[in-house]
Amino acid sequence: MTATAPREGELWSRCAGCASLLYRKRLRRNLDVCPECGEHTRLAAPERLRQLVDPGSFTPLPDRPAEVDPIDFVDVLPYPHRLSAARAGTGLAEAVVCGTATIGGLPCALAVMDFRFLGGSLGAAVGELITRAAERALEDAVPLVLVTASGGARMQEGALSLMQMATVSQAIAALREAGLLTVSVLTDPTYGGVAASFATNTDVLLAETGARMGFAGPRVIRQVTGRTLPEGFQTAAFLLRHGQVDMVVPRHALRGRLVALLAAARAGRRARCRPAVPRQEPPPAARPATVAAPPADAPPADAWQTVRLARHPGRPTTLDYLDSAFEGFVELHGDRLGSDCPAVVGGLARLDGRHLMVIGHQKGHTTGELVARNFGMASPAGHRKALRLMRLAARLGLPVVTLVDTPGADPGIGAEEQGQAAAIAENILSLSVLPTPVVAVITGEGGSGGALALAVADRVLMLQHAVYSVISPEGCAAILWPDRGAAPQAARALRLTTPDLCRLGVVDDLVPEPVPAAHHAPEAAARAQREAVLGNLLPLPDVPPATLVRRRRQRFRRFGAARVGLRAGAR
Ligand SMILES: [Zn+2]
Repeated sequence: MTATAPREGELWSRCAGCASLLYRKRLRRNLDVCPECGEHTRLAAPERLRQLVDPGSFTPLPDRPAEVDPIDFVDVLPYPHRLSAARAGTGLAEAVVCGTATIGGLPCALAVMDFRFLGGSLGAAVGELITRAAERALEDAVPLVLVTASGGARMQEGALSLMQMATVSQAIAALREAGLLTVSVLTDPTYGGVAASFATNTDVLLAETGARMGFAGPRVIRQVTGRTLPEGFQTAAFLLRHGQVDMVVPRHALRGRLVALLAAARAGRRARCRPAVPRQEPPPAARPATVAAPPADAPPADAWQTVRLARHPGRPTTLDYLDSAFEGFVELHGDRLGSDCPAVVGGLARLDGRHLMVIGHQKGHTTGELVARNFGMASPAGHRKALRLMRLAARLGLPVVTLVDTPGADPGIGAEEQGQAAAIAENILSLSVLPTPVVAVITGEGGSGGALALAVADRVLMLQHAVYSVISPEGCAAILWPDRGAAPQAARALRLTTPDLCRLGVVDDLVPEPVPAAHHAPEAAARAQREAVLGNLLPLPDVPPATLVRRRRQRFRRFGAARVGLRAGAR
């Protein structure tokens, strides 16, 4: 894993992955990825820029690093000698190249680190240059893209290099407050002070294939723990599995991924910056009738039959709908704290060309899929991933659409150890004040608190044969009858069908399913869902966020005292 970019002038280079002798021009044409084994060779910053940005669009920031040797550091060589050698060896002034450019025609500011320059170490000049790139992004109101490659803070500048972690993080925080997208592209290697600050406190983390990232390096961990490290430790795949990066992206796909992210950020920004048109608030009841209700003469479906339909393994899942009702799904992974829950999927997508964040429970059609997705039962990590994505959507000015299909939150031991109750609670609270439009669709099973953790919304829609309930009919029957065999009676008593919940005001709109049910004609089901979501979502972005939140709170407030007939003194 010590591949280095081929030197200028050499015609051939040997792959560090498979030892193939490669014609240098062929390797470069392949973006310095070995065509034989896929090994991603480390890139110098200028070559990285050439690969990522639109030709001719890069303008370096005017700032030049000052000569710094703040603590007169000398090891076997004085620090200034090492700096001079690095400059001569790379042709760069410092370990980072910063500037503005367009990627796919979308403007951004960039800071690209270069590992060849003193191991990409973070010193005062590097910190200052990246901070200025962030400030430039803020000034121009454009996203910031960081490409990291670093062994960590620069020892030769002592504690002053440590302070750069805070300096740059502050600049990232300012972009976060301003609702400007920040993206890190983690490349090999990204460690220490860079990993523990700006590389990971951005909105979206892409790990390039072959990248390794961590706080402590493997050598240090081995020394301290005396243990052999697991295979693949700190690799991109490890990071994805442990919820620490949004995705692993091969070099060929990096530019395309960045374009998709920048496009979503621009759409959100445009929506938010649209001049507020003074308009009468429509009364909450006024909304376009978008979906045909089922015929009034249709016999009422039996609740237990509906439960069985809602659980049918052939029923379209969230990923099916993302593929059919939505376009351009870019999945974002991980809770950033150690896990990526497979029972919750989420990411950026488009609906009829409109950019939004979609988050949903994922079940599956086969036993294998269901097991791999934990039957759609989210762990605390799943709820925290959902929360992270909701907040990101709000910051970027993108609406949130949730697709709810879960028997309930994961009731396991691990889930309890990791704070399942608090994770659900935090989502419910955060959704109730999320300053962006939220539309929830109960697509299959709306099981209890796990469902509500994704369903505190401005508009709650429900598919015709979905169910939404405080407890499963089996659970209710076991406690109250007490006989699990009484589940069909419990299902009827719980009023968990769509018509019942529309009457109770818990659900705003019924989404009709093809006859006899969604799984018989998934494409028609997707069309109906798309139309229903669009019809309910379209009026919302015009409502100021504070009004949205106020109305959302009123919507859920009315299920309390008013419904049970209490008359509080103040109201
Ligand atoms: Zn190779």
